Amino acid sequence: MDLNKVFENNKAWIKSKLEVRDDYFENLGKGQNPELLYIGCSDSRVTAEELMGAQPGEVFVHRNIANMVISIDLNVMSVVNYAVDHLKVNHIVVCGHYACGGVKAAMQSADLGILNPWLRNIRDVYRIHKKELTAIDDEEKKYDRLVELNVKEQCVNLIKTAAVQKAYRDRGLKVHGWVFDVHTGKLIDLKIDFEKYLHDIMEIYHLD
Ligand SMILES: [Zn+2]
Repeated sequence: MDLNKVFENNKAWIKSKLEVRDDYFENLGKGQNPELLYIGCSDSRVTAEELMGAQPGEVFVHRNIANMVISIDLNVMSVVNYAVDHLKVNHIVVCGHYACGGVKAAMQSADLGILNPWLRNIRDVYRIHKKELTAIDDEEKKYDRLVELNVKEQCVNLIKTAAVQKAYRDRGLKVHGWVFDVHTGKLIDLKIDFEKYLHDIMEIYHLD
Protein backbone atom coordinates (compact mmCIF):
# COMPACT_ATOMS: atom_id res chain seq x y z
CA MET A 1 0.00 0.00 0.00
CA ASP A 2 1.45 3.33 -1.12
CA LEU A 3 0.74 5.88 1.62
CA ASN A 4 1.15 8.79 -0.80
CA LYS A 5 -1.74 7.33 -2.73
CA VAL A 6 -3.91 7.77 0.38
CA PHE A 7 -3.81 11.55 0.02
CA GLU A 8 -4.56 11.36 -3.68
CA ASN A 9 -7.48 9.04 -2.89
CA ASN A 10 -8.69 11.56 -0.31
CA LYS A 11 -8.71 14.37 -2.88
CA ALA A 12 -10.67 12.21 -5.31
CA TRP A 13 -13.12 11.28 -2.54
CA ILE A 14 -13.71 14.95 -1.59
CA LYS A 15 -14.35 15.72 -5.26
CA SER A 16 -16.85 12.85 -5.61
CA LYS A 17 -18.77 14.00 -2.51
CA LEU A 18 -18.90 17.63 -3.66
CA GLU A 19 -20.15 16.57 -7.08
CA VAL A 20 -23.28 15.14 -5.45
CA ARG A 21 -23.77 17.99 -2.93
CA ASP A 22 -21.66 21.11 -2.84
CA ASP A 23 -22.52 21.65 0.86
CA TYR A 24 -21.64 18.05 1.82
CA PHE A 25 -18.81 18.92 4.22
CA GLU A 26 -20.61 21.96 5.55
CA ASN A 27 -23.37 19.62 6.70
CA LEU A 28 -20.94 16.99 7.99
CA GLY A 29 -19.25 19.64 10.12
CA LYS A 30 -22.51 20.53 11.87
CA GLY A 31 -22.53 17.37 14.01
CA GLN A 32 -23.52 13.75 14.12
CA ASN A 33 -26.80 11.99 14.78
CA PRO A 34 -26.16 8.27 14.21
CA GLU A 35 -28.96 5.74 14.73
CA LEU A 36 -26.60 2.81 15.17
CA LEU A 37 -23.63 1.80 17.30
CA TYR A 38 -21.52 -0.84 15.55
CA ILE A 39 -19.10 -2.97 17.59
CA GLY A 40 -16.96 -5.07 15.28
CA CYS A 41 -13.59 -6.77 14.93
CA SER A 42 -10.40 -4.87 14.03
CA ASP A 43 -9.78 -7.38 11.22
CA SER A 44 -8.78 -5.45 8.08
CA ARG A 45 -11.20 -7.46 5.92
CA VAL A 46 -14.26 -6.52 7.95
CA THR A 47 -14.94 -2.86 7.36
CA ALA A 48 -17.79 -1.34 9.29
CA GLU A 49 -19.47 1.23 7.04
CA GLU A 50 -18.51 -0.22 3.65
CA LEU A 51 -20.11 -3.63 4.10
CA MET A 52 -23.35 -1.97 5.25
CA GLY A 53 -23.34 0.74 2.59
CA ALA A 54 -23.44 3.35 5.35
CA GLN A 55 -22.31 6.94 4.87
CA PRO A 56 -20.30 9.22 7.19
CA GLY A 57 -22.52 10.39 10.05
CA GLU A 58 -24.71 7.27 10.07
CA VAL A 59 -22.84 4.82 12.30
CA PHE A 60 -20.88 5.22 15.54
CA VAL A 61 -18.10 2.62 15.39
CA HIS A 62 -15.98 0.70 17.86
CA ARG A 63 -13.62 -2.07 16.79
CA ASN A 64 -11.33 -4.33 18.80
CA ILE A 65 -9.90 -7.84 18.53
CA ALA A 66 -12.84 -10.26 18.21
CA ASN A 67 -15.58 -7.63 18.82
CA MET A 68 -15.54 -8.00 22.59
CA VAL A 69 -17.73 -6.18 25.13
CA ILE A 70 -15.81 -6.50 28.39
CA SER A 71 -17.25 -4.80 31.46
CA ILE A 72 -13.89 -3.52 32.76
CA ASP A 73 -12.65 -2.29 29.36
CA LEU A 74 -12.89 1.47 29.79
CA ASN A 75 -12.63 1.97 26.03
CA VAL A 76 -15.64 -0.09 24.90
CA MET A 77 -17.70 0.93 27.94
CA SER A 78 -17.06 4.63 27.24
CA VAL A 79 -18.15 4.13 23.63
CA VAL A 80 -21.33 2.31 24.71
CA ASN A 81 -22.22 4.92 27.30
CA TYR A 82 -21.53 7.85 25.01
CA ALA A 83 -23.48 6.32 22.11
CA VAL A 84 -26.47 5.30 24.24
CA ASP A 85 -26.72 8.17 26.74
CA HIS A 86 -25.54 11.12 24.63
CA LEU A 87 -25.94 10.24 20.95
CA LYS A 88 -29.15 8.34 21.79
CA VAL A 89 -28.61 5.54 19.29
CA ASN A 90 -31.58 3.18 19.05
CA HIS A 91 -29.68 0.11 17.85
CA ILE A 92 -26.44 -1.56 18.92
CA VAL A 93 -24.92 -4.20 16.66
CA VAL A 94 -22.21 -6.66 17.65
CA CYS A 95 -20.76 -7.92 14.37
CA GLY A 96 -18.42 -10.91 14.42
CA HIS A 97 -16.94 -12.63 11.39
CA TYR A 98 -15.99 -16.13 10.28
CA ALA A 99 -12.24 -16.81 10.12
CA CYS A 100 -11.68 -14.46 13.08
CA GLY A 101 -8.06 -14.70 14.18
CA GLY A 102 -8.91 -13.69 17.75
CA VAL A 103 -11.44 -16.50 18.11
CA LYS A 104 -9.01 -18.96 16.47
CA ALA A 105 -6.26 -17.99 18.92
CA ALA A 106 -8.62 -18.58 21.86
CA MET A 107 -9.28 -22.12 20.58
CA GLN A 108 -5.59 -23.00 20.78
CA SER A 109 -3.37 -23.51 23.78
CA ALA A 110 -0.59 -20.99 23.44
CA ASP A 111 0.87 -18.28 25.66
CA LEU A 112 0.25 -15.06 23.73
CA GLY A 113 1.51 -12.65 26.37
CA ILE A 114 -0.52 -9.46 26.70
CA LEU A 115 -3.25 -11.03 24.56
CA ASN A 116 -3.90 -13.74 27.18
CA PRO A 117 -6.30 -11.74 29.38
CA TRP A 118 -8.17 -10.47 26.30
CA LEU A 119 -8.55 -13.93 24.76
CA ARG A 120 -9.49 -15.33 28.16
CA ASN A 121 -12.89 -13.75 27.64
CA ILE A 122 -13.37 -15.82 24.46
CA ARG A 123 -12.19 -18.94 26.28
CA ASP A 124 -14.93 -18.18 28.84
CA VAL A 125 -17.48 -18.20 25.98
CA TYR A 126 -16.15 -21.64 24.99
CA ARG A 127 -16.50 -22.85 28.60
CA ILE A 128 -20.09 -21.60 28.86
CA HIS A 129 -21.00 -23.46 25.63
CA LYS A 130 -18.60 -26.39 26.04
CA LYS A 131 -21.31 -29.04 25.72
CA GLU A 132 -22.55 -27.75 22.36
CA LEU A 133 -19.07 -27.08 20.98
CA THR A 134 -17.43 -30.38 21.95
CA ALA A 135 -20.32 -32.21 20.26
CA ILE A 136 -19.24 -30.69 16.91
CA ASP A 137 -16.60 -32.95 15.29
CA ASP A 138 -15.79 -30.79 12.29
CA GLU A 139 -13.15 -28.26 13.42
CA GLU A 140 -14.24 -25.61 10.89
CA LYS A 141 -17.88 -25.87 11.96
CA LYS A 142 -16.83 -25.66 15.61
CA TYR A 143 -14.80 -22.54 14.81
CA ASP A 144 -17.75 -20.93 12.98
CA ARG A 145 -20.08 -21.77 15.84
CA LEU A 146 -17.73 -20.24 18.43
CA VAL A 147 -17.69 -17.05 16.35
CA GLU A 148 -21.52 -16.98 16.52
CA LEU A 149 -21.68 -17.84 20.22
CA ASN A 150 -19.09 -15.15 20.96
CA VAL A 151 -21.31 -12.57 19.24
CA LYS A 152 -24.26 -13.79 21.28
CA GLU A 153 -22.35 -13.55 24.58
CA GLN A 154 -21.13 -10.02 23.75
CA CYS A 155 -24.76 -9.04 23.14
CA VAL A 156 -25.57 -10.47 26.56
CA ASN A 157 -22.70 -8.42 28.02
CA LEU A 158 -24.27 -5.30 26.53
CA ILE A 159 -27.62 -6.18 28.08
CA LYS A 160 -25.92 -6.41 31.48
CA THR A 161 -25.07 -2.69 31.37
CA ALA A 162 -27.20 -0.07 33.09
CA ALA A 163 -27.06 2.19 30.00
CA VAL A 164 -28.64 -0.46 27.75
CA GLN A 165 -31.25 -1.50 30.34
CA LYS A 166 -32.29 2.11 30.88
CA ALA A 167 -32.42 2.93 27.13
CA TYR A 168 -34.48 -0.20 26.48
CA ARG A 169 -36.98 0.87 29.12
CA ASP A 170 -37.05 4.53 28.07
CA ARG A 171 -37.07 4.29 24.29
CA GLY A 172 -36.97 0.64 23.22
CA LEU A 173 -33.28 0.43 22.25
CA LYS A 174 -32.42 -2.92 20.66
CA VAL A 175 -29.27 -5.08 20.56
CA HIS A 176 -28.49 -7.16 17.45
CA GLY A 177 -25.96 -9.91 16.74
CA TRP A 178 -24.58 -10.25 13.21
CA VAL A 179 -21.84 -12.28 11.54
CA PHE A 180 -19.95 -11.24 8.41
CA ASP A 181 -18.95 -14.14 6.18
CA VAL A 182 -15.56 -13.16 4.75
CA HIS A 183 -15.79 -16.01 2.22
CA THR A 184 -18.93 -14.67 0.54
CA GLY A 185 -19.23 -11.06 1.75
CA LYS A 186 -22.64 -11.84 3.18
CA LEU A 187 -23.90 -10.24 6.38
CA ILE A 188 -25.92 -12.70 8.49
CA ASP A 189 -28.40 -11.68 11.19
CA LEU A 190 -28.18 -14.23 14.03
CA LYS A 191 -31.66 -13.07 15.04
CA ILE A 192 -30.77 -12.92 18.70
CA ASP A 193 -33.90 -12.80 20.81
CA PHE A 194 -32.84 -9.64 22.64
CA GLU A 195 -35.95 -9.35 24.80
CA LYS A 196 -35.76 -12.98 25.92
CA TYR A 197 -32.14 -12.56 27.03
CA LEU A 198 -33.00 -9.29 28.67
CA HIS A 199 -35.73 -10.89 30.76
CA ASP A 200 -33.63 -14.00 31.50
CA ILE A 201 -30.65 -12.12 32.83
CA MET A 202 -32.48 -9.26 34.54
CA GLU A 203 -33.06 -11.48 37.56
CA ILE A 204 -29.32 -11.32 38.29
CA TYR A 205 -28.03 -8.30 36.40
CA HIS A 206 -30.86 -5.81 36.92
CA LEU A 207 -29.26 -2.40 37.44
CA ASP A 208 -31.90 0.15 36.63
ZN1 LIG B 1 -11.70 -10.97 13.95
